[in-house]
Amino acid sequence: MPSHTVGNWWRRGAEDGARLLGLDGGGAGLMKHKTEAQELAQIELARRGAIQRNPIYEPSELIKLALERHGSDKVAVSWSGGRCSTVILHMALQICPDIRVFHTDHGVHYPETSRYVRRMAKEWNLNLAIAKPERTFWEIVKEKGFPKPRVPMDPKRGQSAVRTPACCRWLKEKPLADFRKKEGIEAFIVGMRAAEARIRALSMYQKGQFYLVKKLKAWKYNPIAFWITKELVSYCQANDVPISPIYKTAFRSGCWPCTAFVGWRDQLMRTNPKYYDFMVKKLGGQQMLDHFYRTRVEPPCHTERGGLD
Ligand code: SF4
Repeated sequence: MPSHTVGNWWRRGAEDGARLLGLDGGGAGLMKHKTEAQELAQIELARRGAIQRNPIYEPSELIKLALERHGSDKVAVSWSGGRCSTVILHMALQICPDIRVFHTDHGVHYPETSRYVRRMAKEWNLNLAIAKPERTFWEIVKEKGFPKPRVPMDPKRGQSAVRTPACCRWLKEKPLADFRKKEGIEAFIVGMRAAEARIRALSMYQKGQFYLVKKLKAWKYNPIAFWITKELVSYCQANDVPISPIYKTAFRSGCWPCTAFVGWRDQLMRTNPKYYDFMVKKLGGQQMLDHFYRTRVEPPCHTERGGLD
């Protein structure tokens, strides 16, 4: 696909992205499930770019390729406890039962997911390394504020204009980089899917299904890059893969106080009303919360106090 076409796609995406992501109308946005057609459209675009970089592999074939290229002691599955990474972990275990697994216990997993991770580590007898970040989410929020939704500031610049929130750098990127360095890991198998978000689809369009992350100094392999959600669910059902109980009420797992996830209010209200009330208080009340999403500027109560209590 010529480069101007993806530019147009991204601009078109930016135009209706706010609507799809629930950022229009100045509200915090209710959680919206993508339709299968929307998921397939994102996947199709990601595939068109990805196939220009390297062949598209079936999930198990890509895992085998990673193991062949780097050796089993230099490959690790990055496992968050979410259902995507759990599916790729299950696939990898069928190929290499002793595969290395990396998880970060960053302190803001949903309690259901933390318990699930501990249970599965025992049940599947995982060769698991658990990292604890140097800083807590709340320390980072105190210094930098809550994470903002990841929408491109300038649609013409596409993904390069999307800033990684400070908490993601401290709680996810740094522990992964430290583990890579300490253990000599060359490649991570990850459960990222193009259908999840336009930003992810664009990333795969640009980089392919597997690629070297220069900053991390390691390769990333995305076996289920082009799966729709239905395939993920079917895989779990067909293979009896248990998923975190948080999915009974939540659309996604991940960090429970993540304000970068536009649907967090809707999700947290349903999954854990106590945590939701806590967050509203932290952000300075409902009015300030609306302000945060309307302007994506820190609520005045936060900046005036110079940090949260
Ligand atoms: S997922 Fe959200 S809360 Fe978690 S580290 Fe990233 S931006 Fe921060």
